[in-house]
Amino acid sequence: MSSQATAGEGLDVLVVGAGFGGLYMLHKARTLGLRALAVDAAPGVGGTWYHNRYPGARVDVQSLEYSYSFSEELQQAWHWNERYAARPELLRYANHVADRFALRDRIRLETRLVAARWDEALARWQATLRAADGSEQCLAARFMVMASGPLSTPYMPAFPGLERFKGRVLHTAAWPHEDQGAVDFSGQRVGVIGTGSSGVQVIPQIAKQARRLTVFQRTPAYVVPAHNGPLDAEWERRVKADYAGFRARSRAMRTGFGSEHPPHMKSALAASAEEREARFEARWRIGGFAFLGTFYDLMIDERANALAAEFVRGKIRSTVRDPEVAARLSPTYPIGCKRLCVDSAGYYETFNLPQVELVDVSGGGRPIEFITERGVVAGGREHELDALVLATGFDAVTGTLMRLPLQGRGGLRIQDKWAGGPLNYLGLGTAGFPNLFHVAGAGSTAAFTSVILSIEHHVDWIGDCITWLDTQGHKSIEAEEDAEAAWMAHMLELARHTVFLGCESWYLGANIPGKPRVFMALVGGFPAYAEQCAEVAANGYAGFRLR
Ligand code: NAP
Repeated sequence: MSSQATAGEGLDVLVVGAGFGGLYMLHKARTLGLRALAVDAAPGVGGTWYHNRYPGARVDVQSLEYSYSFSEELQQAWHWNERYAARPELLRYANHVADRFALRDRIRLETRLVAARWDEALARWQATLRAADGSEQCLAARFMVMASGPLSTPYMPAFPGLERFKGRVLHTAAWPHEDQGAVDFSGQRVGVIGTGSSGVQVIPQIAKQARRLTVFQRTPAYVVPAHNGPLDAEWERRVKADYAGFRARSRAMRTGFGSEHPPHMKSALAASAEEREARFEARWRIGGFAFLGTFYDLMIDERANALAAEFVRGKIRSTVRDPEVAARLSPTYPIGCKRLCVDSAGYYETFNLPQVELVDVSGGGRPIEFITERGVVAGGREHELDALVLATGFDAVTGTLMRLPLQGRGGLRIQDKWAGGPLNYLGLGTAGFPNLFHVAGAGSTAAFTSVILSIEHHVDWIGDCITWLDTQGHKSIEAEEDAEAAWMAHMLELARHTVFLGCESWYLGANIPGKPRVFMALVGGFPAYAEQCAEVAANGYAGFRLR
C-alpha cells in the first residue's frame, strides 16, 4: 500500500542503482553522514555485470584501471586474476566492495523505483518504490542520484513473428540465471543477431558448443585483440607500489586510462607507409584501445582514421580464409565511431570454423524479414534454428530514465523534457529537475573513459555539492536552462571535430528506431571536463540556480 511520505521520515539521498555507480554513491553519502538508501531491481549488486551473464562477458578496459581508486586499502588488497576481468570476477569485486564498506544494510535489492516527483513545497523528491512482491512504499529524499547505468535497458528489435518462434530466445543483457549463465547450446542450431561488443564476445563462445551457428550481421564491427591473459605479476607489483601515481596518470589521459601507452603525438598522415604499418602493428600487439592512439589524429581526421581502418581490414583479410566472408566482416565507416570491440576469444578466427555461417542482413543487403516458428527469414531464405540470441544492445544512456514516471518542478515529465534528446548541464543535472543528479549519464565523458573513473568523479562532485549546499543553507540546486543550452552546444561543437558523427552508433541514439539523433557523450577528454566541473563548483556552482 502506498503512503505519502513526509519530510521528517525521509532520506537525504536516494540512490537509484546498485552497480558501480550506486555502490560508490552510497558509500560517499554515508561517509558524509547523510541518510542514504540505494535501490536496485536486480537480486544482487553489480548493475550491468549482474545482468550481462552471457558467456564471454568481460570488461574492455584493463582491470587495474577498471576499478575503484577511492580506497588505497581496497586497491592494494584486491587482486585481479586476468588483465581483462571476466564477468564473474567483476561481480565478485562488486560484492566485495559492498561487504568491505558495509553497504548492504542500506541497499534494497529487488526493489524498483517506479515513480518520482519533485515536491516543490517540501523541496523533496517523493519516490515510489516497488518490491518484488508488489508492495509499494513512498519515500521522501532531499536528493536523488540516478546511478541507473547508461547501458541498462536492453533493446529488443520488433522483428515480425518473433513471438511465433518455437525455440529459445535469449538477450545477452538479460541472460537467464541458470548455472551462472551457462546455457547449454550443445548440439543446437543457434542464431545470433548483432555484432557489437556483446555479439563479438558471445559468438566465439557459442561457436564452441553449437552444432551450427548462424551470425546475422547488419553492420560489421572493428575488432581488435585484447591479448588477455593472467594479470602480469610484475606489472601488478609496479602499479601497486604507487597506485596513487598510476591513478593520477590515468586521470591525466583524455580517456582516463591507458597511461602506459599514451597516444603518439604524430599525425598518421605525416608518417611514411612503413612507419605507419610498424606503429599500427606495434599497437595491435599491445591490444585493446591503445590501437586508437597509434597516432593522435585517428579520431579527429577522417583521412588518418581511414588508414587505421584499412590496417584492421588487412588483419581481417589475413585471418579469415574465405575472401567473401572477410569482405563481409570488413567495416567501411570510421574506426572507433562505434565503440571499438576488444576480443579475447578469437572473433575473426571463429568465421573459419565449418559450423559457422555469416549472413549479411545489412540495410543495403538483405535485412531480416521476419521470424517463423522454425527460424529467421533473411535474404529470401529461412535459417532454421533451435535458439536465437539477440545481441542487439541497449536503449543506451536515456532508455532507463525515459521509461520512468519522473516529474520535476511543476510536474515536468522527463519524457517531455527530453523529447528531443537528453538536455543536461555538465552531464550532472537537468533544468526543471532540482536536486537530481546523474552518474555516468548523458553529457559527460563517461562513455569514453574507464567508466569507474567517471563514476568516482561524478560522485565526488555530487558529494562536495551536497556538502556545500548544506553548509550554505541552500535547499535546492537546479541547472539553469541557459547553462544547459550552452553545454549542449559545447558538446555538439566538440563532436563536430571528430569522426563520431560519421556512423550509426548508440552514442547518437541511432541504434533505436525513432530515437532523437543527439550525440549524448562528451568527447573533449576527461581532464578538460573535470576542470570545467571543478571551476563551476569553485564559482559557487555557476550555471545552477540555488534556493
Ligand atoms: P550494440 O553495440 O548496440 O550492438 C548491437 C548489435 O545489434 C549491432 O551489431 C546492431 O547492428 C545489431 N542490431 C540491432 N538491431 C538490429 C536489427 N533490427 N537487425 C539486425 N541487427 C541489429 O550493443 P552491444 O553489443 O550490447 O554493446 C553496447 C555497448 O555496451 C558497447 O558499445 C559497450 O560500450 C558495452 N559493452 C561492452 C562490452 C565489453 O567489451 N566490455 C561488452 C558488451 C557491451 P547495427 O550496428 O547495424 O545497428
